[in-house]
Amino acid sequence: MKRSITDLALFGGPSAFLHPLYVGKPTVGDRARFFARLDWALDNNWLTNGGPLARELEDRIADLAGVKHCIATCNATIALELVLRASGVTGQVIMPSLTFAATPHSASWLGLEPVFCDVDPETGSIDPDLAASLITPETGAIIGVHLWGRAAPVDALAKVAAEHDVKLFYDAAHALGCTAGGQPIGGFGAAEVFSFHATKTVMSFEGGAVVTDDSVLADRIRVMHNFGIERDKTISSIGTNGKMSEAAAAMGLTSLDAFPATRERNRANYSLYRAELHGIPGISLITFDENEENNYQYVIMQVDQALTGLSRDRLQEILRAEKVLAQPYFSPACHQLKPYRTDPPLRLPHTERLSGRVLALPTGPSVSFEDIRRVCSVIRLCASHGEQVNALWDRQGSVTA
Ligand SMILES: *Cc1c(COP(=O)(O)O)cnc(C)c1O
Repeated sequence: MKRSITDLALFGGPSAFLHPLYVGKPTVGDRARFFARLDWALDNNWLTNGGPLARELEDRIADLAGVKHCIATCNATIALELVLRASGVTGQVIMPSLTFAATPHSASWLGLEPVFCDVDPETGSIDPDLAASLITPETGAIIGVHLWGRAAPVDALAKVAAEHDVKLFYDAAHALGCTAGGQPIGGFGAAEVFSFHATKTVMSFEGGAVVTDDSVLADRIRVMHNFGIERDKTISSIGTNGKMSEAAAAMGLTSLDAFPATRERNRANYSLYRAELHGIPGISLITFDENEENNYQYVIMQVDQALTGLSRDRLQEILRAEKVLAQPYFSPACHQLKPYRTDPPLRLPHTERLSGRVLALPTGPSVSFEDIRRVCSVIRLCASHGEQVNALWDRQGSVTA
């Protein structure tokens, strides 16, 4: 344990960890089971095009999400594009800016215009009243994001969408296995999209899924994600290739097998982070509603520079030097990214404030309780000596410059 700030790796001390701690280390599950599934696919020469493994994954995800239909895809970004295109969305799409770039990219890629909406300062979710105020005759849809696995305000958004007759979808990339009002995420809006990217809590190397209760939309997306090939093998509309391969499905199923254990572990990690960071002025964790199911995939710390004296960026640098690879999810916010910046700049005060304070901490089954104690002791040391850290940092900076 580090006792003084001069022990910090940034100032020449040994790093707290020999091997890096990551946010989003892949949750592989039982490797033997993965290879058995892969062997089975190879033995049977069925490698893609809606094979049995992809179908099995679809059934299990539909079950978990409590919906009728699931279409497995090559990733979540393509899945979002399929949802927007198959729904005939035109014009503007209202969405939060506090999300991964894939959310606005999916709209922009189709020639639609993302319209960024500010978030609730407490929850980080799109503010339904503000979303309503952004609706114009050009608005084609609203995309809500279940940021960090915490449900967007689904009831209020449903009301806004119904009142203004605009379509509503969700980017549920973070929210597999989570609930809103006790109902599984997956069944809200006209469709929701999960991601099984390597860094997500259930992963298939690359992968995603559309879930919906709308049979017509599901059929359209199923056709569209396979070049527009209909059941009778004719091609009567433009499609793309958004299919999930059997190799990806084999990985997805194996990672999904491990999901209950992954979630338990993440919950325990989150509880320990909460306990270890408790009472440090200026440091707080984004909490989860214990009345809901959560996957605890993201442990999000907020750094209040006014109280710690230390900026989020500096704390991230300090942790990086200790080999704790915390990630500023999501900073910069999407409206601050080059493709979406405007002149004069759009101001989203709550988004910008949160975006400047958050840091995702390493969790997942590979992060031990001892690791978490060590990470938190570094955070405690720095947050309680913010001014001294800054002074030493600035002095060192001028020496090395
Ligand atoms: C990961 C992520 C995506 C993109 O998922 P891919 O499967 O990598 O395309 C979209 N939205 C959010 C919020 C994400 O975190």
